[in-house]
Amino acid sequence: MEYISTRGGIAPISFTKAVMMGLATDGGLLLPRTMPRVDEKTVEAWGRLSYQELSHAVLSLFIDDLPQAQLRQLIDRSYATFTHPEITPLVQRGGVYILELFHGPTLAFKDVALQFLGNVFEYLLRQSGEKMNILGATSGDTGSAAIYGVRGKERINIFILHPHKRVSAVQELQMTTVTDANVFNLAIRGTFDDGQAIVKTLFNDIPFKEQYHLGAVNSINWARILAQVVYYVHAALKLTPRGGLVDFSVPTGNFGDIFAGFVARRLLPGRIRHLVLATNENNLLTRFVLHGDYSLGKVVQTSSPSMDIQVASNFERYLYLLYDEDAGRTSEAMQQFARTGSLHFSDSEQEKIRAAFRSASVSQQQTLAAIRDFYRQTGYVLDPHTAVGVSAGLAHLDPAVPMVCLATAHPAKFGAAVQEAIGRPPEMPESFRDLDKKESRCQVLDADLARIKAFIEENAI
Ligand SMILES: *Cc1c(COP(=O)(O)O)cnc(C)c1O
Repeated sequence: MEYISTRGGIAPISFTKAVMMGLATDGGLLLPRTMPRVDEKTVEAWGRLSYQELSHAVLSLFIDDLPQAQLRQLIDRSYATFTHPEITPLVQRGGVYILELFHGPTLAFKDVALQFLGNVFEYLLRQSGEKMNILGATSGDTGSAAIYGVRGKERINIFILHPHKRVSAVQELQMTTVTDANVFNLAIRGTFDDGQAIVKTLFNDIPFKEQYHLGAVNSINWARILAQVVYYVHAALKLTPRGGLVDFSVPTGNFGDIFAGFVARRLLPGRIRHLVLATNENNLLTRFVLHGDYSLGKVVQTSSPSMDIQVASNFERYLYLLYDEDAGRTSEAMQQFARTGSLHFSDSEQEKIRAAFRSASVSQQQTLAAIRDFYRQTGYVLDPHTAVGVSAGLAHLDPAVPMVCLATAHPAKFGAAVQEAIGRPPEMPESFRDLDKKESRCQVLDADLARIKAFIEENAI
């Protein structure tokens, strides 16, 4: 499988090169040259596989430059850190299915991808004898999941920017209490988008990127999207082993998780009907789905901080496919968006968008109400991100088609919001107890490009 850039400016590269490149050197995002599809017979056989076996079957369609046995080992090692035997179990509650993606080491769905990515990096760097400095911006969960993906690994240093005091207390502690020498937490005085912009600029600074062997862990890294495709397939086949449709509701920030759902939808023809794109009050993507209007708003702080995002970094991947893989048109659109902060879509494009997507924007009030109502009806505690997805999923519920709502975080990560909704704190998992008594390490810096660049130069491996 070869990978190309959404902006058409690089020669096709292999999977391992794509993983190492992160953001394409022409500023675009990497995608498989052709999107695989599987036939019904294969799909039925897949229904009998364990999560790890299925992961191997799906990933090997996209990866042909790693030895098969090696790929299988990397998958097994990545999911050995999960505490549930099914890795991503489905539970039926309140008329929907909850796909629990939070059984990894940091209790958020990002572990599914980042445990895998960390192991892939480690393997490839050992093979090549090279080193890597991972640089990423996080609105909360990516940071800790990325740090846990590579902590203590040789040949890798990791620099994670998070918006100072704009992530939950637990999220902050999860990151800053990892004191391995290869981990650098940078708290930026600004928003997630400020941090993200600095990271993007540094990745576009090609001499700097090459000198310091910068690697990406944000959801722009193709390996992350790929690892996430697996649980959509796993859930769909569990619910409809002999065929039939499934809808998914996906709490969305950077459009990474839902784009993985879109890839799964193309991979399994006739199995996944709608992807419900659930946003909080940062609803740029909802306006895109409902009205074909993709225009920048201001970032609003909500109780689902991992979705407090306006510019979704993976959107360009979908745009490229929407534009029938026209890289020229995609680059033009991205340039126009950079200039004007908005894009508009024709009626026929909107029709295409709505063939795959539904959407709802869920307010603060509605999110809290969703946590409270779901708890009262079922006894099940949702975290605020999952609650946004459940609320949007219920709004688009069709009794004839199972609705799978992705549970992207454990409620204990967002205890304050849960407490406000149901009047008691969520149960604390073992790994969270005494987090605030542990030693921690973090650097607070202004959202200043030069200052952050200098910090990396001083501390790079
Ligand atoms: C990252 C994250 C999201 C958003 O996922 P994207 O891939 O950025 O769309 C939703 N919920 C939680 C808990 C997250 O950590």
